[in-house]
Amino acid sequence: MAVPKRKTSKSKRDMRRSHHKAEVLSLGTCSHCGQPKKPHFICPSCGYYKNKEIVKVSGE
Ligand SMILES: [Zn+2]
Repeated sequence: MAVPKRKTSKSKRDMRRSHHKAEVLSLGTCSHCGQPKKPHFICPSCGYYKNKEIVKVSGE
């Protein structure tokens, strides 16, 4: 099995981990109900996408 020749320095380890962060949430608003929703996803609160009802949301 291949094994690293050198211990990764704290600097290199931390440089690698500098990308380990939570993704920034990008949210749009639904044009039908105005609730926040993910772009290119159907609206979770009303089930609309492109001004058309795609799925029925229970408890509306
Ligand atoms: Zn909606």
